Amino acid sequence: MADRQVVILGAGFGGLYAALHLERALRRERSARIVLLDKGNYHLFVPMLHEITSGGVEPRHVVRPLRPLFRNTRVDFRRAEVRSIDLEGRRILTDQGEVGYDYLVIALGSTTNFFGVDGASETAFTLRSLKDAVGLRNDLLEMFERADLEPGAPPRGRPGSGGRLARRRVGVPAARHASHPWGGSRAEPSLLTASPRGTW
Ligand SMILES: Cc1cc2nc3c(=O)[nH]c(=O)nc-3n(C[C@H](O)[C@H](O)[C@H](O)COP(=O)(O)OP(=O)(O)OC[C@H]3O[C@@H](n4cnc5c(N)ncnc54)[C@H](O)[C@@H]3O)c2cc1C
Repeated sequence: MADRQVVILGAGFGGLYAALHLERALRRERSARIVLLDKGNYHLFVPMLHEITSGGVEPRHVVRPLRPLFRNTRVDFRRAEVRSIDLEGRRILTDQGEVGYDYLVIALGSTTNFFGVDGASETAFTLRSLKDAVGLRNDLLEMFERADLEPGAPPRGRPGSGGRLARRRVGVPAARHASHPWGGSRAEPSLLTASPRGTW
């Protein structure tokens, strides 16, 4: 039988586990090939992004390089950004050229929902990527430094948004722990939320 190619788009939780499980399930199917595409060369442990923002861990602690994970397996990882999918022609168009497929798994994640809040998409920070987490951490640091210079009563931090989760995971621990870069600051963070409940 001719080789069959399974292409998996995205190496987040969905794509990574699909690749690992297919590799096992197709062990006896010598004619099957598995290609995994992602725009980054690492798997990002998204649920720990807030730890970077609050200064608890370094970016290297929440990423896992993909190539070593698939060494000695039939999963062929390629770093490529998906531009479009030609369903009729059964091919993926990427910034590195095109890849044909017989079977396709789409696991490209999602985008942030701003729930129709005016101005949120232009002015709010999102927290979905390593770049977002580091950018938000740097901004928080800058805000704490500025707040610390304000004369008079202990200043309140710039209001952020988020429910109980954000308060518990980012704001409060960040301000309280002396081990954080801004630990010991006189500033107190205030978190506002548009929703009565946390997201989780
Ligand atoms: C801050 C935060 C905290 C969270 N905490 C929790 C938690 O505690 N518990 C929980 O169960 N869930 C949590 N979640 C949700 C969880 O992270 C997601 O449900 C999960 O990551 C979804 O997996 P996925 O594979 O669909 O997408 P993702 O993990 O987002 O993976 C998508 C992959 O596709 C790649 N990609 C995207 N576009 C392209 C493109 N054009 N070309 C090539 N590659 C592309 C990305 O690089 C990424 O590797 C959290 C989410 C966030 C944002």
